[in-house]
Amino acid sequence: MTQRHGAFAAASGAAVCFLGGAAFLTPTAPQSSSVAPMSRALRGATASEGPAASSFAAPAAVALLAAAAVGGRVTRQAEAKKGVRVVDGKEIPWNLFSPKAPYRGKVVPNKKHPQTLTEKTGDANWETTHVTFDHGGNVPYIEGQSIGIIAPGPDKKGETPARIRLYSIASSAVGDDESSRTVSLCVKRVVEVDGKFANREVGQDKPDKAGTHYPDNKVYRGVTSNHICDFNVGDEVLITGPTGAEMLLPEDPKANIIMLATGTGIAPMRSYLRLLFNDRVGAAVCNGFGPRKFKGLAWLFMGVPFSKSLLYDDEHKEYAAKYPLQFRYDYAVSREQKNAAGQKMYIQTKMAEYTEELWALMQKPNTHVYMCGLKGMEAGMTECFSGIAEKSGLKWEEFAKKMKSDGRYHVEVY
Ligand code: FAD
Ligand code: NAP
Repeated sequence: MTQRHGAFAAASGAAVCFLGGAAFLTPTAPQSSSVAPMSRALRGATASEGPAASSFAAPAAVALLAAAAVGGRVTRQAEAKKGVRVVDGKEIPWNLFSPKAPYRGKVVPNKKHPQTLTEKTGDANWETTHVTFDHGGNVPYIEGQSIGIIAPGPDKKGETPARIRLYSIASSAVGDDESSRTVSLCVKRVVEVDGKFANREVGQDKPDKAGTHYPDNKVYRGVTSNHICDFNVGDEVLITGPTGAEMLLPEDPKANIIMLATGTGIAPMRSYLRLLFNDRVGAAVCNGFGPRKFKGLAWLFMGVPFSKSLLYDDEHKEYAAKYPLQFRYDYAVSREQKNAAGQKMYIQTKMAEYTEELWALMQKPNTHVYMCGLKGMEAGMTECFSGIAEKSGLKWEEFAKKMKSDGRYHVEVY
């Protein structure tokens, strides 16, 4: 099963969508940056695309490489350019910026999700933010990739600046403003009160941007997550990457996409959903409305502790209302819901309500499963599907392994 991630265009500063004789121009990165990522099947490109279909013009420095393992899959890399990786025969952007020479971006406003997405729950860790950076078209990426962020530090090992931390990109390739010049992240602010580690002694914890502080306790504040969550518009951000080939979307516009996310594991899913259901580049016709290039079913299961921690709930409800035959949305709120047996509602508990439907969907060779977030989710899948697999004379672990080797079971958990 091939992945979609393809041809991204070094084009003329505009992604071109043809409808009959008329062309609709989607503004993209300026020519100087030379790249505007395009996906063949879902976002654009067919042979008729002309300039948009030309290959990625990365900074040259061509070297010969052998086969390389990418995201657990072995891909042929006959030729590698700097800033590019070849996955399944297609070029994707790759580490254009390194920790030693990061891109210096700027924090920009995002009217739709201005910073805090969640509401106070009583938990020290309640806040998750949505932050958008201007990369001027210089950090092209595709849906499913991550970038690194460098905080000033010192970090928990005393390093200054801090070691990079990776974040899954939460915007689609064109960015939230569809200019191909921005990238957004969905970041949870790590705050631990009276825990094993502390980088604020009693009396030292000052109010963060959301106004939360614990002056009477020893506090550990995650170095990079707090740096990001406290950003103000205009601040400089140091970006590395992009990187990651495990979570790329398939090329087939008829593929079915089952998405399983806990907490900020929603980030790559949001990136997909923007492309599938929101962006002009994912529209089947050039006006950007109505039918989509995507023709399959996208089914999202999201797990969060409180209903106040649901992420991008407004967008999911909007897609479900607009595309009820193509988008299904289920969530598990672990500390507020229980199943009929009185068990805590985890994502796998919610999925268990649809075991047969999901199992049938997974039998189709064009169904992909994407999982992102907490490690425990993988054990949850075993819990959910072992019984039904056994009824079909199969072992879930073997079935999942085969899906993985077919490139249709994508996991990024830790
Ligand atoms: P750190 O300062 O690194 O602290 C992390 C932990 O270390 C704390 O729990 C703390 O208790 C512990 N600690 C402190 N001191 C010590 C010590 N001396 N020894 C041992 N442990 C110590 N996060 C998101 O919010 N959104 C995303 O989309 C996202 N995507 C990711 C994608 C990938 C591929 C990966 C690998 C990670 C992703 N993460 C994401 C997690 C992110 O990279 C960071 O790990 C997270 O934000 C915490 O980083 P920090 O610098 O804030 O915390
Ligand atoms: P969160 O808001 O705390 O939500 C996590 C939810 O999952 C909670 O409802 C939690 O329930 C539940 N949960 C706990 N154990 C589970 C299990 N075994 N199976 C299923 N669900 C379980 O999430 P978060 O703080 O954002 O954390 C998400 C994790 O994903 C973090 O570790 C983050 O760093 C990681 N992440 C990874 C990537 C990546 O690899 N690309 C991207 C983004 C995030 P209870 O708390 O009520 O038990």
